[in-house]
Amino acid sequence: MKLGIVGLPNVGKSTLFNAITQAGAESANYPFCTIEPNVGVVSVPDERLDKLKELYDSKKIVPTAIEFCDIAGLVRGASKGEGLGNKFLSHIREVDAIVHVVRCFEDPNVVHVDGNVDPLRDIETINLELIFSDIEILERRIQKGSKAARADKSLAAELEFLKEILAVLEDSKCVRTMSFTEEQQIFVDSLNLLTSKPVIYATNVCEDDLADEAANNELVNRVREYAATESAEVVVVCAQIEAEIAELDTDEEKKEFLETLGLEQSGLDKLIKSSYALLGLVSYLTAGPQEVRAWTIKVGTKAPAAGGKIHSDIERGFIRAETIAFNDLVNVGTMSAAKEKGLVKLEGKEYIVKDGDVILFRFNV
Ligand code: GDP
Repeated sequence: MKLGIVGLPNVGKSTLFNAITQAGAESANYPFCTIEPNVGVVSVPDERLDKLKELYDSKKIVPTAIEFCDIAGLVRGASKGEGLGNKFLSHIREVDAIVHVVRCFEDPNVVHVDGNVDPLRDIETINLELIFSDIEILERRIQKGSKAARADKSLAAELEFLKEILAVLEDSKCVRTMSFTEEQQIFVDSLNLLTSKPVIYATNVCEDDLADEAANNELVNRVREYAATESAEVVVVCAQIEAEIAELDTDEEKKEFLETLGLEQSGLDKLIKSSYALLGLVSYLTAGPQEVRAWTIKVGTKAPAAGGKIHSDIERGFIRAETIAFNDLVNVGTMSAAKEKGLVKLEGKEYIVKDGDVILFRFNV
């Protein structure tokens, strides 16, 4: 899963991205992640792993991870080739969701490209570029479709639908403000439009506004109102504080530092958790004396495909999944006690894996 960080210049993207790479996951654990200078891999915090490590007396914890990609260079006019222009836009096309960093902090030392701090104007500037790019794609599709529809009448409905979407874009609205049937959604996903991707607005506030969840920050409230119109999420962060947290070595130190700020979790943790929810992801867990580990799957994934995340052999040779809910396991304390109580279930191919399932896969090699 990959999230792209976008936003106007000087809103705090690099500061946030650097905090992400510093907090970074041990890359040895994630050989499949692409490691490029603008990609940061970060572990997904999961307290359940600590508990499992105790129960199993395991040597190590391997959390699951997500990738953040720093997509710098978006400026007004990007869809017309300004700045990095189209190159930038093609990077956004590759991500599963967008983290849109919005400046909500005042600082006379940090210049704003448009002169003053105005998060809604900034959001609209960026979204307009993405909208222009989507319009271009749809116009091309419609043009091609019109020719084909003359020969094949069944394509007419599809063409009508594309025009409906185009009209919304031409009204300066993102495609994600529209609602679709399941079938339409699959088709829309196949178009890979920039403004249909899920978005989290990360409002970058000053340190003082952080503790109250920016309840007093008028700018954040405006962003919240805007986000509600397109069912987008808002996460309040302070990029500078995130950078400071990332410098700390131990979890203990981080916790203490957060406490002095009156915070329970870092903005980065909030961002990761929101991304997870936004993308419809859950984690199942594996545990043994060597390691306890979390694995990311989409909600609704069946047991063989979930096992396939560990190794393709498991999916191919799947026999069954010995499964227990994390809470049940913790309540009884040991796997053998759980078995005696009948809490460990033998699940077959059709089983849909749930968040927090602790699983042992049985498979033929
Ligand atoms: P980018 O162009 O969006 O990548 O922005 P940068 O991360 O480079 O930040 C631009 C400037 O704003 C830098 O001088 C940062 O130190 C500063 N900055 C970033 N986040 C904050 C913040 O939360 N508060 C304040 N006061 N300054 C910040």
